[in-house]
Amino acid sequence: MSCATPVDSARLTDYWLALVPEAEEHAVEEHLFSCGECAARLGEVAAIAAGIRRLAQEGSLRMVVSEAFVRRATEEGLQVRQYALPAGGSVECTVTASDDLLIARLAADLQGAKRVDLCICDGAGAEQVRLADIPVHSGAGGVLYQESITYAKAAPSNRMIARLVAVEEGAAERLLGEYTFNHTRTLPGPGAFPEPPLAES
Ligand SMILES: [Zn+2]
Repeated sequence: MSCATPVDSARLTDYWLALVPEAEEHAVEEHLFSCGECAARLGEVAAIAAGIRRLAQEGSLRMVVSEAFVRRATEEGLQVRQYALPAGGSVECTVTASDDLLIARLAADLQGAKRVDLCICDGAGAEQVRLADIPVHSGAGGVLYQESITYAKAAPSNRMIARLVAVEEGAAERLLGEYTFNHTRTLPGPGAFPEPPLAES
């Protein structure tokens, strides 16, 4: 550290977000122009802010994620709601307004599975969406599925079933695990399914 009067990190963040009162903004700006060290720290603040924004946007997607993704989101201050289920398990779940990401840990023995599909089904077990050939490591004890937080926050109380299947030669399917989510809406209002039903394929 060669800067004698470093702008503190909270101040830098406020500056980046344009929350510093105009009168003080000028002083911060002047310091940043003359101090490479603090300017570089501002760059880090900007990179973190962009990372958080990207993670939050990714939170709206239905996708399979990695442990590293969940760890990074937690480290960057996002509120991650997680439910862990064994194969054949079920869970009572919900989502609150302050949750940023919603993750289901689906435990399964993936050994020997060359291609794994994740099927999202309605409460009766009818397949609605299929994530085909998801990234898995055969040594991993399961799959991390991210439900869209936007979808979950809008949804009414409902039951969803997820199925992990191994697709073998000749397209035969082997069930690796089935997971039941009994979702209770705890946000105000009755909720609605925000996505139109997917066309039959
Ligand atoms: Zn400085």
